[in-house]
Amino acid sequence: MSEPNTAVAGGTGNGSADVPALHLKNLVKHYATRRGTVRSVDGVDLTIRKGEILGLVGESGSGKSTLGKLAVALAEPTSGSVVIDGTDVSRLSGRELRRRRKSFNIVFQDPGSSLNPRMTVGEAVAEPLRIHRIVERRGEARKVAEILDTVGLRPEIADRYVHMLSGGQRQRVSLARALAPEPTLLVADEPTSALDVSVQASVLNLIADLQHDLGFACLFISHDLAAVEYLADRVAVMYLGRVVEVADAESLFTRPLHPYSEILLKAAPLPDPDAQRTRERIVLGGDLPSPLNPPAGCRFHPRCPIAVDRCRTEEPELREIVRPGGATSSFACHLVDDQGVRPPLIADMPSG
Ligand code: SF4
Repeated sequence: MSEPNTAVAGGTGNGSADVPALHLKNLVKHYATRRGTVRSVDGVDLTIRKGEILGLVGESGSGKSTLGKLAVALAEPTSGSVVIDGTDVSRLSGRELRRRRKSFNIVFQDPGSSLNPRMTVGEAVAEPLRIHRIVERRGEARKVAEILDTVGLRPEIADRYVHMLSGGQRQRVSLARALAPEPTLLVADEPTSALDVSVQASVLNLIADLQHDLGFACLFISHDLAAVEYLADRVAVMYLGRVVEVADAESLFTRPLHPYSEILLKAAPLPDPDAQRTRERIVLGGDLPSPLNPPAGCRFHPRCPIAVDRCRTEEPELREIVRPGGATSSFACHLVDDQGVRPPLIADMPSG
């Protein structure tokens, strides 16, 4: 078993202002398959402060979505705990967990799959209000209209069915449903990636406005680095079931410390074609190794352009440093020193 992957920032005290919105403690999720054990999440310790947006990035298969499901108790951890607003929800019984679900929720990439096609929009938004007894029946229609207005939808849409809506409208309904019980934590798992490019920005702006107005904490999972840079206060980078770097968004996007973070950023397309043509280009070589059998030592070493012998045998722990200016960063790399300096990456990557 791997050692815990520790990336704690934010308070951990019992006073409510200091209690994080979410604290994942040495969280592990392994799946038994016929081919062996898939180590989807393999010892993650991560904190989201109240009212903070934490972006979570990494390639497909890095464990981001599994982590998101664990964070809202839609998957049971193999070990470790999920503490939401001071309560370990991974230890709650079914009834108590259902009661607590009011305070945390998730929206998925495909709103169509999470909305019941037999319900009208009004019924879909009213359902969580009824389950959590938030409003009496006679005040329900007015409350639904208020919530729809909050997500930028007109009240008439309450009578329509999901299949009658555009993708952007469906995602707004998902957000309305998720936020109806006024949760303190929202997990947004690739909430814009199934939408037309033309509506992605409006949904991102909506999430930013809602978070600002309602003050919930948010785990924003995305492969869209521009979206993460726009929305997130801090960013965690995941690689093969582990968190390899956590930093405030500005530090991460201007000077990533972990080689994987830097390569991810440099591989992302730029919106300006001229800048894209002239930029320094580093391509991530090879595929993500199988989580059935992660590499020994640093999991990134087979693809890392600056790996040394130590990287092949010794797994780096997350270490925290204070950057010039006072921001803290955590990273798991043997070659980053206590001043946040490491050898530069070379342009030629291993091909496979
Ligand atoms: Fe690369 Fe070694 Fe750092 Fe891993 S520990 S990221 S292999 S330099």
